[in-house]
Amino acid sequence: EDWQERGAAVSVRQEVDANGQTVSRYIKKGVRDFSFGNTLGEGSYSTVVFATDRQTLKEYAIKILDKRHIIKERKVKYVNIEKDTLNRLTDHPGIVRLYYTFQDEQSLYFVLDLCKGGELLGVLKRMTTFDEECTRFYSAQILDTIDYMHKRGVIHRDLKPENVLLDSGMHVKITDFGTAKMLKTPRADPNSNGILPLDSAELPQEERASSFVGTAEYVSPELLTDKNACKASDLWAFGCIIYQLLAGRPPFKAGNEYQTFQKIVALDYEFPIGFPTVARDLVERLLVLEPARRLQIEHIKNHEFFDGITWGPDLWKQKAPRLK
Ligand code: ATP
Repeated sequence: EDWQERGAAVSVRQEVDANGQTVSRYIKKGVRDFSFGNTLGEGSYSTVVFATDRQTLKEYAIKILDKRHIIKERKVKYVNIEKDTLNRLTDHPGIVRLYYTFQDEQSLYFVLDLCKGGELLGVLKRMTTFDEECTRFYSAQILDTIDYMHKRGVIHRDLKPENVLLDSGMHVKITDFGTAKMLKTPRADPNSNGILPLDSAELPQEERASSFVGTAEYVSPELLTDKNACKASDLWAFGCIIYQLLAGRPPFKAGNEYQTFQKIVALDYEFPIGFPTVARDLVERLLVLEPARRLQIEHIKNHEFFDGITWGPDLWKQKAPRLK
């Protein structure tokens, strides 16, 4: 509750008080400040709806969560993680920004950046595969965003093309921080590889398992063998995503979750014929079983695959390449 009264959840209005002094008034946004439109999508615990701020006419996506359902399904913790991580990640173009939260008796509301381009997965499915130029562009934006969140002490832990949304200019916006891990002291130890326990002891069995529900294909081997997630786990997922953009399917895929996990821990995957050589080299340096031996972000940025990419703010001023 507390943060809603201060940080992101309010808008500031300049007003002149009785003494003729200009004062800033903090006004909390609420349901009545938005007009709601079409449903953009449905999750297991939420509905995402198109909305416009009645005052500014700015467009948003509002995620509406049913309180009773969340409590019943014991997802309160994940809703809080999502809110808290998004509030730590407010100044990067590659993150779906959380502008306001509010609630009424029934629901919680998250006012988010509108991503008109939908999910990267949907775009990829329409295209079947991406060419190298498109793969370079989208994966560079994803990497720049991972770099930002790691520097701010957040490990995503569930990166996959469904969680990479696209705005109206087809620029990347990463979402779904419900299973993210917040490190207590970001950048406390620059030499540490960030390995940390998953807090599995804290979680009831069913909740622990729920982080695997949906897609097993991007889970890192260390999570399966030691139940440890670290920053490098996001880079394993990043390797899977690069592979998938070029090949049209994720590297580890089998008939069921168990078989997929077996393939992952055995590093059992192959490159299709015609997979670009330089990209293959990068993927092979990311899909490494030992997390400490995986390529680190600075080295990934300098890999030949990303030749021609300018990192930092300029990456986000670039026009997205035509999909091929
Ligand atoms: P689950 O909770 O079952 O894992 P999910 O994480 O996809 O599902 P939501 O985050 O509620 O659930 O998203 C529901 C749908 O709304 C998704 O298909 C997603 O693509 C779409 N969506 C989510 N956020 C936005 C946004 N900011 N802009 C546009 N569409 C969005």
